[in-house]
Amino acid sequence: MQRPEPSSTGTRPAGPGPKVLALLDDIERLAGHPQRLNDWQKDRWASLHAHHATHSAWYRDRLQQSCIAPDSPVSWDQAQRIKLVTRADLQREVDRAFVTPPQSHGAVYVTQTSGSTGEPVRVARTERCQQFWMAYGLREHQWWNRDFSRSLFVIRANLDTRFIAQKTWGSPASLLATTGAGYAASMSLSTAELALLIEELRPGYLLVYPNVLVALLQQYQAWNKTPRGLLQVRTMGETLGPGLRNQVRDDWGVETADTYSSQEAGVIAIECPSGSYHVMAENLIVEVLKPDGTPCAPGETGEVVITDLHNYATPLIRYAIGDVAEVGGPCACGRHLPTLTKIHGRVRNLITYPDGSKRWPRVGFDRFRDVAPITQYQVVQHAVDDVEVRLVCSPLSVQQETALNQIICTALESPFPLRFTYWPGGIPRRSNGKYEEVISLLKAVPLS
Ligand SMILES: [Zn+2]
Repeated sequence: MQRPEPSSTGTRPAGPGPKVLALLDDIERLAGHPQRLNDWQKDRWASLHAHHATHSAWYRDRLQQSCIAPDSPVSWDQAQRIKLVTRADLQREVDRAFVTPPQSHGAVYVTQTSGSTGEPVRVARTERCQQFWMAYGLREHQWWNRDFSRSLFVIRANLDTRFIAQKTWGSPASLLATTGAGYAASMSLSTAELALLIEELRPGYLLVYPNVLVALLQQYQAWNKTPRGLLQVRTMGETLGPGLRNQVRDDWGVETADTYSSQEAGVIAIECPSGSYHVMAENLIVEVLKPDGTPCAPGETGEVVITDLHNYATPLIRYAIGDVAEVGGPCACGRHLPTLTKIHGRVRNLITYPDGSKRWPRVGFDRFRDVAPITQYQVVQHAVDDVEVRLVCSPLSVQQETALNQIICTALESPFPLRFTYWPGGIPRRSNGKYEEVISLLKAVPLS
């Protein structure tokens, strides 16, 4: 799971365990009582607004720009008039946005994310924010009823060394139980090296970015093997499509548990065993908005907008994080937390159609193999009428390109002019280790 790094000025607090465990109890109780959770959100919103309206000139400016008087109480209904904060706003103005939090919120950390544009977004967070992050990490373990006696193997982008072996999983799991061993390997290792480590260590749990998981599945297919002793794959950081989830089930015989998180806001939604992503509503108000700014109904897809109820160091209030998600309905598991059905990924991963609409594209990858053994692909939209399809495979014949063109255009439901390029050495990931299957290089136009 991603963690904010401490700033050079902050000091990591000692012994947060009791507070985190108490918080875990609190949030689980709230999640069982929709009315109490609603009251809690309203109460936390009122305090958050009062704090930032008093201490942040930047937030006061934004209220005024939204025609809201900064010195009056603002209900959450009224707050929905507050102008959305974009990543670009934070990049430009974040130093003005930082606020000194009350001492009770503990030490301040500054976390940095590369963001969808490659430009860093800096957000100050507090020890209190960190406690929520840890409590949600524990909640996720509890929901999935993990066997802590087994080992955990994490493949990470931001590891300074190639491999680390520890006696335990580390925090926060160690707050709940004595755990088995914890291993971490760098994503810079080759897929074969990573797979050999899995073979040697036989972890119970594997935590990995989906793009690395794809490569590992291919490696195991080439070996005609299955990882032994694996209980579950955990994913983070990128979109986990249904195709990949099914492949893990078919090839390895285990389920996949996904978490939606960000450096700026911590854990946003946790997948439950019934298949919904539950929003962490005790800490965040998550809106999913249509292009006209109105909320999406269940089944509709829109832009994710987050208000962090416990960040008293940066007013993350109606922050358009840059992701697109589909709103869900009540979940079969019976938990009352709001749901998302699908996390589609970044706004910049949307294809722009000739009529100006933007859509999360399907490109028909599950049918690519009917044409040729294509191991990796990336669709890059340079202009509305210029779509590059990058492929890792031997160059295709004219007939194969024609067949592939037809599959992709049928899936996209539009006759985009496609051009194919070949990347025999593999398509590089972004510098933060993430991989995007679809990238739009068109001038960013926000959804709302
Ligand atoms: Zn559920």
